[in-house]
Amino acid sequence: MNLKPLIVSFCVLFSTVAFSANLHYSLVKKEGKNNGSTLLIIGGIHGDEPGGYFAPLLLTKYYTIENGNVWIVPNLNFDSIAKNVRGTYGDMNRKFAKIETKDKDFQIVSDIKKLILTSKVDLTLNLHDGQGFYREKNINKNFNPKAWGQATIIDQQQIPNAKYGNLAEIAKKVNKETNIDLLEDVHEFNVKDTNTKKQDKAMQQSLTYFSITNNKPAFAIETSKNITNLSQKVFYQLKTIEEFMNLMNIKFSRPFELTQKNIDTLLDDYGMLEIPTTKITLNLSTLKSSIAYFPMNKDKLVYSSDNPLVSVIQDKDTYKIMNGNILVSRLKPEYSDFDNSLDNVNVVIDGKKTVVKIGTLISVKHDFMAEDIKGYRINLIGFSKTGITNESGIKVAHKDFVKTYAIDKHEHTFMVQFYKDKRFCGMINIKFDNEKK
Ligand SMILES: [Zn+2]
Repeated sequence: MNLKPLIVSFCVLFSTVAFSANLHYSLVKKEGKNNGSTLLIIGGIHGDEPGGYFAPLLLTKYYTIENGNVWIVPNLNFDSIAKNVRGTYGDMNRKFAKIETKDKDFQIVSDIKKLILTSKVDLTLNLHDGQGFYREKNINKNFNPKAWGQATIIDQQQIPNAKYGNLAEIAKKVNKETNIDLLEDVHEFNVKDTNTKKQDKAMQQSLTYFSITNNKPAFAIETSKNITNLSQKVFYQLKTIEEFMNLMNIKFSRPFELTQKNIDTLLDDYGMLEIPTTKITLNLSTLKSSIAYFPMNKDKLVYSSDNPLVSVIQDKDTYKIMNGNILVSRLKPEYSDFDNSLDNVNVVIDGKKTVVKIGTLISVKHDFMAEDIKGYRINLIGFSKTGITNESGIKVAHKDFVKTYAIDKHEHTFMVQFYKDKRFCGMINIKFDNEKK
């Protein structure tokens, strides 16, 4: 018997698992009606720079492109974003000159290089939060030529013969517009030329330098790490991106006025999370910081969200739900086998009989009852009456629940879980709307 082929195929499989990142970035292509220039925006190359990924999140979610095209990668270094570190596998922005195939970032860096070189892409922006406030002259430890924050970064003055190749001129124009609406005077943007070819060995390995050495214009936008308010950073990033769009004649619209207050409101919307095995959708904006007895499948974790920065990560005996680098909630799993036989259930809401789909969120004013289903057991999480294992046919009100079992911050929403023997069949969530929040 020849064992060789078997061993080889095992190794290949193993290396895929061991040598690549866990979370994959998303690419959102927004294309206008008429052909025009294409702007590629890359967010989150550094995981601990939230201005660089929450800005493209809002672009992805809310902007409409009417003319020209905007391609957005909001979460390039997704593993590092979820961990809130610069680079889990080393600095991704130092891997664009050369990278070994065994590097965990290899696939991502190779794919994004191809994307930058796509003939349709005219200009690339790489978004960051940088240290301090860049100034041409040394003023103090926060304001000086070595700082990176509040700057549009170029690797050289220009790329001859390239469309949008006047890097210095473009950066200056963009900053001039951004500087009209400063939230504080010290936040002014300046152009930082790293003169990469001659002076900056580290930057020679960066994404933007890779792009310009291939004759494709690229800029880095750096908001300041010293600005601790996320909505302020996102404001400046969006403002700058919009100026690039104007300059490239890309027409866009957004359903809100670009103010810090509006950005704050939009950032408060964390989106929805769907975990198909549980047949439930969770509202992440109102979700409680810790939820016990959450049915999970031990072998595989499957989920989806309308927010590309959302990830669910196993952490010892819990699952962390992250929105970018923000910890939204911890699920304490109740591992169980799953049963798919139940699609709809009969319930009584405020005295009215109705049929609801498993997975739905139901609003209840006063009371709720799940009708008995032969062969199934119903568990109202947070409600307990001694001696009862099947809680069907019991009319319950908000006051009958132990509030700590609620799944929302306001403690109004509770899980109703359905089981067949020991197998979990899905749940519905009931939200008591009777009281003031
Ligand atoms: Zn950075």
